[in-house]
Amino acid sequence: MEPETQQQIKNEIARLKAELPAGVKLLAVSKTHPAEYIACAYSVGQRCFAENKVQEMTEKQASLPKDIEWHFIGHVQTNKIKLMAPYVSMIHGIDSYKALAEVSRRAVEKNRVIDCLLQIHVATEETKFGFSPQECLEMLRSTDWRSLSGVRICGVMGMASFTSNMEQVSGEFAVLKQTFSAIKTEFFPSEDSFCEISAGMSHDYILAVEQGSTIVRIGTTIFGQRNYSSKLP
Ligand SMILES: *Cc1c(COP(=O)(O)O)cnc(C)c1O
Repeated sequence: MEPETQQQIKNEIARLKAELPAGVKLLAVSKTHPAEYIACAYSVGQRCFAENKVQEMTEKQASLPKDIEWHFIGHVQTNKIKLMAPYVSMIHGIDSYKALAEVSRRAVEKNRVIDCLLQIHVATEETKFGFSPQECLEMLRSTDWRSLSGVRICGVMGMASFTSNMEQVSGEFAVLKQTFSAIKTEFFPSEDSFCEISAGMSHDYILAVEQGSTIVRIGTTIFGQRNYSSKLP
């Protein structure tokens, strides 16, 4: 890989670590980038990486140091859970009871408990996955999720609209935080482990942190633009 790329990755990780408040976790979103980019970030101390394709994450996990924390930030397809169940550290995109139950089943098979976040739809775009705040509360009220021994619900995840309107983006992150608080009050009043708000990407992480994010998911500013076309056959 180019020396300039290596330098960019190292500089940006150092810059973000200095900028982010203590208590905000930096996830380096490495999707589409080769394992050597991850190894470069690893060499300057980055240990938490996120991917959105199970197959790709699993191939990288096999070839890289075993103390890396792998976070899955893609849409959870039930037929892919088995592949990541042995090692995944946190699954951010739980958007149905069915997905949660299937993660639990596969975790139990591996004698694990997998940390999960409930994805909340706060953006105006139709295409983004997730529960509405109301649907999420309804799911927790109406299902037997407490009996799922292979998962631990640790918080919420959300994505703001892709817009330059900062007030709108801040407002959406605020809704995510309110939803987190409503879930916490009703279902996890004394569980310290329900504490995470995964919010903020390269273009909006500062606003997300202002609105209480505890995990930011940053790809482009660290690793550069993703080249999806090179993935085509
Ligand atoms: C790709 C992705 C990111 C990172 O986006 P950047 O704009 O590259 O920082 C964050 N969250 C999710 C869910 C993603 O799919």
